[in-house]
Order: sequence, then C-alpha cells, then structure tokens
Amino acid sequence: MHSFRSRILILIIGLVVATQIVTLVAVSARIGDDVREQANEQLQSSGSVVGQLMAVRSAQLANAVSVLAADFGFREAVTSSDRATIVSAMENQAGRAHADLALVLDPEGKTIAYSGASRHIDDGALNRIMDLRAVSKERPAFVVLDNLLYQFVVVPVRAPQLVAWVIMGFEVNQSVAREVRRLVGLDVAFVTMIAGTRHVVSSTLKDFTGSDPQERSPRSSHAGARTLLIAGAQWLSIAGQLDPQDASLQFVLLTPASVVMKPFDEARAAMLFIGGTALIFALVIGVFLARSATQPVIELVSAARRIEEGDYKHVVSLSGAREFARLAQTFNSMQQGIADREEQLKHLAYHDAVTGLPNLRKAELEIDALAQLVGSRHAVVVLELAALEDARATLGDAFFDRGAIEVAEYLREQLPDATFIARLGPYSFLVLLRDELGGQAARIAARICESLRHGLDVDQVRIVLDGVAGIALAPEHGLSSPDLLRRSLIAVRSARQQGLATTVYVPGNDEQFRRRLELSAALPAAIESGELTLHYQPKMKMRTRQVVGAEALVRWTHPTLGAISPAEFVPLAERTGAIRELTRLALQLGVQQLANWRTHDLHLDLSVNISAADIIDPDLAPVLLLALRRANVPASRLILEITETAVMHDRAAAAKHMEVLRVAGIRFSIDDFGTGHSSLSLLQALPVDELKIDRQFIGDIESNADSAKIVKSTVDLARALDLKVVAEGIESESMWKVLADFGCHLAQGYHISKPLTAADFLAFVAATNQPSAADDTQMMDLSLLRNSR
Ligand code: C2E
Ligand code: CA
Ligand code: CA
Repeated sequence: MHSFRSRILILIIGLVVATQIVTLVAVSARIGDDVREQANEQLQSSGSVVGQLMAVRSAQLANAVSVLAADFGFREAVTSSDRATIVSAMENQAGRAHADLALVLDPEGKTIAYSGASRHIDDGALNRIMDLRAVSKERPAFVVLDNLLYQFVVVPVRAPQLVAWVIMGFEVNQSVAREVRRLVGLDVAFVTMIAGTRHVVSSTLKDFTGSDPQERSPRSSHAGARTLLIAGAQWLSIAGQLDPQDASLQFVLLTPASVVMKPFDEARAAMLFIGGTALIFALVIGVFLARSATQPVIELVSAARRIEEGDYKHVVSLSGAREFARLAQTFNSMQQGIADREEQLKHLAYHDAVTGLPNLRKAELEIDALAQLVGSRHAVVVLELAALEDARATLGDAFFDRGAIEVAEYLREQLPDATFIARLGPYSFLVLLRDELGGQAARIAARICESLRHGLDVDQVRIVLDGVAGIALAPEHGLSSPDLLRRSLIAVRSARQQGLATTVYVPGNDEQFRRRLELSAALPAAIESGELTLHYQPKMKMRTRQVVGAEALVRWTHPTLGAISPAEFVPLAERTGAIRELTRLALQLGVQQLANWRTHDLHLDLSVNISAADIIDPDLAPVLLLALRRANVPASRLILEITETAVMHDRAAAAKHMEVLRVAGIRFSIDDFGTGHSSLSLLQALPVDELKIDRQFIGDIESNADSAKIVKSTVDLARALDLKVVAEGIESESMWKVLADFGCHLAQGYHISKPLTAADFLAFVAATNQPSAADDTQMMDLSLLRNSR
C-alpha cells in the first residue's frame, strides 16, 4: 500500500521519465536519420568527386602520353624503326609521367618496345587494353593485371598516318588512394570484383578487407550508404564504379560512423543531460508537490487522532492552497463543535437537568476525591423530602420541578458558598460538609430540616417539607462513596423509623439492614416451602388451672440463619406485604391443628395473631370460613388476636370485617392491650371478646404500683364490659397470684409453659388437665357463648 505522497511522487517522476524517453527516442530517431542522411549526401557527392577526379587524372595522363606521341624525334624513331631511340624516349616520358607500365605497339598490335614491367602483359590483357583505344580521353581505362589495378592510356602515333600506338599504365596504388583521401577528405579503397569476390587493390584504411560479411544496417539500401564494422568500429561507406561500364571496378569511400554520428551523439548526450537535469528537477518538484499536497492531509490525520484522544485544544492551520485553509477552518469549527457537545454531554452526565446541581455520579466522584485527601474529615448528609413526592402527585410535575429548584436555591443560600450540594434522586439531596469536627454536620442538618418544616414557598403555594436527614461521617463510617452513601441512607431510614429529623449512622446498622433485606427476600419462599411452623403456648383458666386454649406463634427455621424470631420477621412481612400469605398459612395450620385436637377429643380454643393488613383484607373472611368448614371445625374455637393500633389504622373497614367474622362465630382478642393509647369506649364499639393485657404491664406488676393500678382497672373495666381478660407474660407464681386476685380470667406465660410444638403441647395438656376438668372446659365454652351473645 503506497502512501498518498509516494503515489504523487511516482506519478510525477513517471510522467517526466515517460516524456523524456519518448522525446529522446523520437528526437534520436529524427537526428539519427538526419545525420545519416547528411553523411550519405556527403558520401554521394564525394563519390561523384572521386569519379571526376579519376576522369581528370585520365585526361592528365592522356596529355602526358600524347606529348610522347607528338614528339618529332619519337615519330622519326618509330618510322625508322630505331628501337633504341623509341625505348629511350618512351622510358624517358614514362618516367616523367610516373607511368608504371609503358609499351609501344605497331598498328597491327605487335609490340615494338616496352618498359621493364610490361613484359607481364599477356595477349589477353593487351587485347583488353587495345579495346579501350577508341575510348575518349576522359574515360579512364582500367585493367587488372596480376591483381594490380592499372589505368591505361592508349594514344595513336601518326606521321601523319598511324604508325604506332603508345600505351602507358598507371597503377592505382596506395599513393592514388592517399591523394584521393587528401582531396575528398575521406578514406578510400579501390576494389575489384573477380569471380564474385572483392579484392582490395589499394586502400587508405589498413583494416578494410573489401569483403564485408559484417555489413549491416538495413538503412544502407534506402540511404545509399552502408554501415560496415571494421576492426570493431562502425564505418559508413558508399561504393562507386571506376568505369561506368564495368561494375567490377569500384572505389569505396569510407567515413567512421563515430565522426558522422558525432553531432548526433553530442545531441543525444546533451539531451540525456537535459533529461537527467529535468528528472532531478522533477524529483525535487515532485517531492515538494507531494509534500505540499500530503502535508495538510497528514496534519489533518494527526489532528483527527488528537480529537480521538480527547484533545480539542489544538487549532489546525494548513499551509498551501486556499482550499486547505478553508478545510482547516471547517475542521477547527467541527472540533469546536465536538468539544462543545462533549462539554454539554459531560455536564448532563454529571448534573441534574432541573436544578443544575451535580447529580449522584458527580457526588460519588466528589466523595471519592475527598477520600484521597490525607486526614480529611467530612460528613455526607443525605436529605430526603418525602413531601416533594406528595406535591408531585397532587400538583403535577411542573410544580414539583419548581419545588426542587426552590429547595436547591434554599440549600445554596443556607450553606457556605463552597459547599458541595447535589441532587441524588427526585426527592433526595446531598450535602458534603468538609472539615467536620464533630456534631457540626448534625447541627446543620437539624437546622435545615427544622426550617424546611416551616415550609417553602413554591409558586405562591407554601409546602411543608418534613425533611429527614441521615449523616455518615468519614473516616469513621467509611471513605468510599458507596459506603458513605449507603450508610447515610441507612441513617435516613432509621431517622424515619424513629420519627426523628436527623440521625447519624450507627456502626452495625447496615449489617442489620442487610440482614433485614436478606430475610425480606427469603420470606415469601420460606412461607411456600414450609420452613414456617406453628408453636403453641398454653392458655390456662386461672380459676381451675386447666388448659383451655393456646396461642399459635409462628416459627421460622432458616436453612442457614437458623431460628428467626417472629418479632424480627413479622414486621418485615408487614412492610413487604408478605404478611397476607403468612397469616393465611398461620390460619390454615391453626385450623388444621383444631381439627387434629378434635380427633383427640380435645376441645380447646386457638388464638391466631393477625395484622393490620389482614383485618382490612376483604378476602380474609371467605378464605377463613371456607377453611373452617372444610376442616369441620366450629368457628367458635378460633380467636383472632389483633393489636389496638392495627385496628385503629382503618377502623371502619376493620370493624366491618370483624363483624362479618364474628357473626360466623369467630372471636376477637385485643393484643398488647394498654400500649396503643386507645380508649376502652372506642373498643367497645368493636366486636371484641377478649383483652390481652400487655406483657410490659404484667412484668412489673409487683414492682410498679402504676402498672398494677393499670392492670387492676383494666380487669375491672373489662369485666364491666363483659369482656374476658388474659394476662400474658406471667413468669412467676407470685405474679399469678396478684392477677388471680385482680380477677383475671386467663393466664399465659413462661410460668405455665413456653410455646411448644404440637406434640409437646398435646403431652402438656394431657399432663395438666385432670379428667374432671373436662366439665370446666365445657362450662367455659358455654359461658363464652353466653358472653358473646
Ligand atoms: P405476641 O402476640 O405478644 O406474642 C407473645 C409473645 O410473648 C411471644 O413471642 C411469646 O413467646 C412471648 N411470651 C410468652 N410468654 C412469655 C413470658 O412469660 N415472658 C416473656 N418475656 N415472653 C413471653 P414470640 O413468639 O417471639 O412472638 C412475638 C410476636 O410475634 C408476637 O407477639 C406477635 O406479635 C408476633 N407473632 C407471632 N406469631 C405470629 C403470627 O402467626 N402472625 C402474626 N401476625 N404475628 C405473629
Ligand atoms: Ca398475640
Ligand atoms: Ca401480646
């Protein structure tokens, strides 16, 4: 994967190189052609010069020979056949004319005289020479003798008639070649074609062999010039005929290609240099361009990476084209946009939208930050305003929001400026007090709760906020936000339970709290699965000391926590709503137990405890009556115990349901009587049959005169109202005595027996009740029936 930068670079360099190559090739081809053309032309014209030269030489030689033919003395010698004179004159002239061969023939062609070398000329050659007689003076007559090329001149000797022929031959040798080279400026070679092969006769070029197997260049045909390879070097050559009529005699002009191509090579070198320079330029420009094109992109990429890492502060500025500047501008405003939005999101994430106060998450961070400070003592105060919930239900969300804002403003006003205030939930606020030096937090919280109780004006409506504050202290109650928040919430809860405005967390409270949560969660399943059973505490008739009934008390054996007291889990069941199921179970087991006693011919009363929620439950009566009918148990054997306060909760509904059940024969007992502040006259309006005086009064009946007085008057009043009185919690014989003296009907307590399992209870009854007591029981039943009518 190439980078953008290297792509640009490759493109630019590639373009330049391609252009260079194309130009170089095209121009080279063009120049090469031109140069070759020029060389060709030069060779051609030099060729014709050589032709002319040879013709001129012929004429000069002819003249030289004619001088001898015209010489008077020579003619005389010929006519007088004076051989010696002929030879001497001939040799004389031949020497002057630099002829290599000379001979004189008679008109018939017989040799009269010849110079030394001429004797080699055989008859055939002589005939060929003589054939050239008629040839004009300008036409060179060439003949090859002994592999040497000669130019012959044949001149007639007339006196005045033809008396002889003078023939001179000039060898076309090295010096001729050199002469030609001097004149035309090119190397030359004279060649003959004998039996199809070339022979170099003479040449200025030592290595030229004439036969040119290495001849090459396809251009030679069209340009006329041939390219030859001679001794490893290229030569351009052109061949011409020495004798226009004889193709076997040729001259070859040669010029070194290096010389010819020199301008071409120079041009090519120049072009290569220019190309190279251009390439370097292109490289430099390319790098620069690639840089300037990619630099903004690189900068944007690193800017984007910075944004990714959450850095929005770096302003991007891009150098270069206007587009980049605009891009940078857009990028920067985008960055700003992201930063702003993130800021908003951050704010929303850590603040309450309505009041603008920090929220729970922010509060956690703040608490945890304080925990980092060595030696910090601080208090987490949680303020719960349940009244806001009521205001929301009755006056609507808008009003509720205004209320929350008012509370926030009020808190800001009341507390020092730097105090951290947060809104934890719809109805709860948090105040974080630093440098807490004992008691200060409680005082501040109490003051705030107190003034909120006086009310706060919201949209001209005064709402009374019965705020409850819970306080957890750091480091005593923990340092981490989960610990401190949970514990301050536990403190809120216990304040509420105790009816206080403010409490400080008490260590251990949250273990209780956790146990309560665990029990509450486990209770419904425990009811279903049979972990709950009933124990039976005997009720004894004081007068006869016979067991006449029992109170059913529920027991829970938890698989891991063991035996759990109803005093602990019944209130939990009442709070979570599980009490309805619990009561159903107790009633069902109780009815079963009554049925069971009947099979043992035991006719005892059974008291079962019910709660406030049960007595207003419309289903209770039908379910209970059905259960009694099914078990074939008379309703008159069942007594329902209920506390004063439970009845007072919703008196009308309680009275109605009690009435229904009472008509069916079920009796009611007021439990824990004396603790609920209700008056006897109010109770009189209810269908009640029995009062159970609370343990608390019985317990100190001997030590506390007031308690004794309360018990005594209660017994008197109950008797006056025709109600049975039960004393519960009798723990000694002396207590028994006092109560017996007061005229109490029935007794219950550890002095008689602790609550027993069903089996133990049966044994206890069997041991306690004498056979004669059966009459008493019957009598009591009758008396009860009488009383309830
Ligand atoms: P309670 O109705 O007042 O029941 C009497 C409680 O006093 C029982 O405690 C009993 O064991 C205890 N007690 C009996 N005699 C003495 C005595 O001489 N001295 C002392 N100190 N205590 C004595 P228990 O069984 O722990 O029950 C506690 C409370 O739980 C009951 O108070 C009752 O309010 C509730 N409860 C028990 N069973 C049920 C039930 O089936 N349904 C409902 N709704 N509540 C129940
Ligand atoms: Ca009871
Ligand atoms: Ca009681």
